[in-house]
Amino acid sequence: MRTSFDPENNLILIEITEIIRSKRKTIALVVQPGGRLVVRAPQRATLKQIRAIVERHADWVEAKLKEMEARPAPRTFTEGTELPYLGGLYPLRLTPGPVPALRFDGFSFTLADGAASQAASLFEEWYRRQARKVFTERVRHYAAGDGFEYGKLRISSARTRWGSCSSKGTLSFTWRLVLAPLDVVDYVVVHELVHLRVKNHSPDFWRGVEAILPDYKSRRKWLKANGESLHWP
Ligand SMILES: [Zn+2]
Repeated sequence: MRTSFDPENNLILIEITEIIRSKRKTIALVVQPGGRLVVRAPQRATLKQIRAIVERHADWVEAKLKEMEARPAPRTFTEGTELPYLGGLYPLRLTPGPVPALRFDGFSFTLADGAASQAASLFEEWYRRQARKVFTERVRHYAAGDGFEYGKLRISSARTRWGSCSSKGTLSFTWRLVLAPLDVVDYVVVHELVHLRVKNHSPDFWRGVEAILPDYKSRRKWLKANGESLHWP
């Protein structure tokens, strides 16, 4: 819990992360992932008024902060911020000018500073394109190796359902998986390919996965432990 002590009033105060003033008429409290309390307030609202509202809603704020603290904070897009791709972290470089909007050279991301405000969605588009390339390549590779026949390949936006396999043989993978190491991507690819033959998670199914990826357990464990870190933004 982010709290501070106010010696003057002998009170424990809930820390306000940020106050955003605008033309609005009322004070609103917003608790964000990472445990940030943001107050939206009218231009003329005094700190005392804002504090009073926070204290009046202290129970709600505290409960919400507790809930949101566990969630990862949204990513930021400033010079030098490290952003994930296939298990690596690459620094962001901001360059003057409007174009090109976003580039990746294998060492760092370059984003035009004119496009910085749309960084989250520009990255998402880029990740989606990469996801299509990476999944197409990995599915082809493992399908050719073991004679799997599949239908279409779909890229989804699912947050926790990493992959799925329909009765028609359509394979779906969430683009968010390209934030994870390739080993993990491959595990999800093989998992769904084996579902083309065994629909359930029976011992037969896991034997099928193990035959292709003998170390699948550690890859699966990684995904369970680190799935939350694949959040975007
Ligand atoms: Zn499954």
